[in-house]
Amino acid sequence: MSDSRVRELEATWRTSGAVEDEAAWLQERVRVGDLEQSKLELAAYCGHSGAARSATPLSLEEGEAWLEGLVGYGRIATVRSLIAIAVVSLEAWTRDETCPIEAAHAAQDWILCPCDPHRAAAGLAAGRCEDLYTQAGSFGASEIAACAAKATYETDLASLIRYSVWWGTKRLCESFDDLLEENDLLLAVRADLVPWALGYSDPVRERVEVRARASEHSERD
Ligand SMILES: [Zn+2]
Repeated sequence: MSDSRVRELEATWRTSGAVEDEAAWLQERVRVGDLEQSKLELAAYCGHSGAARSATPLSLEEGEAWLEGLVGYGRIATVRSLIAIAVVSLEAWTRDETCPIEAAHAAQDWILCPCDPHRAAAGLAAGRCEDLYTQAGSFGASEIAACAAKATYETDLASLIRYSVWWGTKRLCESFDDLLEENDLLLAVRADLVPWALGYSDPVRERVEVRARASEHSERD
């Protein structure tokens, strides 16, 4: 009868919209195995109020330390965080080279299917970003996208996060003015992680699906 209890608590929350009702529903989902405790803790770490009422996060660091702390939630959560940073950074990408966009795509493809061929494709995409660095100079958005792709296999994930934050807040693309605030990075990461962690929606899957539909259209045209 646990499923009906979960449904009942969900209905209560959807009617009331109250944080404590959401917290009760999330806790019940953990109890019946519908939600992993670690995902609830990750959402709490991201500051989600319903999750924060029912789980104690690892720590409550701020800024860059907070971003580095995401490594404690595992590789998938870290790659997803770096993808969120890459997506917001690539909004500044106005150059002709497509390698950073492809690197961000490769990291997202690996998230949906984390097999060896997708990891190898991410490695190749990251390598093309490094070639761009060698040929054309430094572009933060490209470096950040390469970090997201490399996080699918590299061991030092905290360095990839630090490197991404440095580029995002120091130089994104052509100009030293096109920068992001550290807070922009935090908000982008939280917006990607929370709905995924709680099973509400999956921003990475949605982006991959939009891309698949767009390529279907262009093939038809
Ligand atoms: Zn795969």
